[in-house]
Amino acid sequence: MTLSLKNASKTYPDGTRALLPSDLVIETGEIVSLLGPSGCGKTTLLRIIAGLEKPDEGTEVWFGSDNVTRLPVEKRNVGMVFQSYALFPNMSVRTNIAYGLKMQKRPRAEIDQRVEEVLTLCRLTPLANRAVTALSGGQRQRVALARAFAPRPRLLLLDEPLSALDAALRDSLRDELSDLLRRFGITAIFVTHDQNEAMAIADRVAVMSDGRIEQIGSPENLYRNA
Ligand code: ADP
Ligand code: ADP
Repeated sequence: MTLSLKNASKTYPDGTRALLPSDLVIETGEIVSLLGPSGCGKTTLLRIIAGLEKPDEGTEVWFGSDNVTRLPVEKRNVGMVFQSYALFPNMSVRTNIAYGLKMQKRPRAEIDQRVEEVLTLCRLTPLANRAVTALSGGQRQRVALARAFAPRPRLLLLDEPLSALDAALRDSLRDELSDLLRRFGITAIFVTHDQNEAMAIADRVAVMSDGRIEQIGSPENLYRNA
């Protein structure tokens, strides 16, 4: 699904202009990183796309040919993964992954089938019945990804999903994630303040600074011009 942002901006009630009017188009199946230092507006942009933050007047958010600007988060069918896992600690891996599908009131057989599929793809089958509290940080983040993939969202939003992990794990999960995103063929936005991570994972990198998208291009092009 193509994502289009037109004239997207956000001024917080205290007057902070977190996002200045910005346009962004992300094509179906494309993975775009939002790269920039803390406070430059990455999370605000992501939350506007998700429907978690009300943007300024004049902003338009389009999912394909649907104008979703006024749709609440639960009607947008986006998957989200954050730095802190936000899994349900007292539920098993399987139950966590099934959660979104149950919320969508899918038939039991379909839920079971999708959960098995995602468990396999994310290499979590051996851990399916474990409690989340018994898993390592990397395993938990893999469960968070699996849970986001399971309802087949139109768009996947990832906000610093690897930042809480140690360096070695971060690199291996980064490659795994890149592979998974491409296998699912999902349109995704990956927020990070780490340039290497942005370059490694994305088809295009949008470089943000002080509430603006300063430039956008393929990692090769950005690197050549750096
Ligand atoms: P990033 O994700 O790049 O760290 P944010 O989008 O979180 O940036 O923040 C952009 C700017 O908006 C920062 O100056 C931040 O302090 C400010 N900001 C974020 N949330 C709020 C809020 N709820 N109220 C006021 N200012 C905010
Ligand atoms: P990030 O990972 O984007 O840097 P922060 O730690 O800056 O996130 O922000 C965490 C939460 O605090 C967010 O919900 C954000 O909206 C809120 N927040 C950030 N800056 C401010 C601010 N200046 N005033 C009020 N809320 C803020």
